[in-house]
Amino acid sequence: MRIDEQGNRMPPPVEGADVRIPDAGLPLVEEFYTLQGEGFHTGRAAWFIRLGGCDIGCSWCDAKQTWNPRLHPPVPTAEIVRRATRDNPAKAVVVTGGEPLIYPLDELCAGLHAGGIEIFLETSGSHPFSGVFDWVCLSPKRRQPPLDDAWARADELKVIVEGADDLAWAEECAARVRLGTKLFLQPEWSRRDEVMPMVVEYIKQNPRWRSSLQSHKYMRIP
Ligand code: SF4
Repeated sequence: MRIDEQGNRMPPPVEGADVRIPDAGLPLVEEFYTLQGEGFHTGRAAWFIRLGGCDIGCSWCDAKQTWNPRLHPPVPTAEIVRRATRDNPAKAVVVTGGEPLIYPLDELCAGLHAGGIEIFLETSGSHPFSGVFDWVCLSPKRRQPPLDDAWARADELKVIVEGADDLAWAEECAARVRLGTKLFLQPEWSRRDEVMPMVVEYIKQNPRWRSSLQSHKYMRIP
């Protein structure tokens, strides 16, 4: 069992995470058409592709069912592309997880782009980049920070705020992304009532930041 520096249990390392096998399929957890609830593209309709596997283990993770990729057998990439192209009037896809960058995403991105789809990535940046994206939302996690080259790829930086320490962490992260990257602070959902006033006050004092709310949870949509 892996234990972090605070004594919390961590999920096991993802087997094969560093092995890049061209189209071995992808561990699909779920795919669905909805509205993006968070960050820069909030309110836009998009097809979500959620992949399994994450080795970070955030205590507040709302996608813990994704952590173990063995529970989600690989689905051929061509099948995933076919449905995302056919059943997606918005012609936009959010690739999320789990941590999607555990897997080689070149083939997925090439297929989606060939179908005229815009691709938005949600990542912690903790694994090497592959694939080509139209928008990258980098959501760094303190217990496993992004790799060095992830920072420059962010179009959007989204920091989850559980407490005051996270505001200092957010500034450390903001110092590493490109000038012009959109900056978002998002209250951690289970602590939103306590954290929201602090986030609001911080943004009023530091207006380069914007708030991000998990609006899909308020709308009760996936
Ligand atoms: Fe969950 Fe994302 Fe944290 Fe992984 S990085 S544990 S998927 S919140």
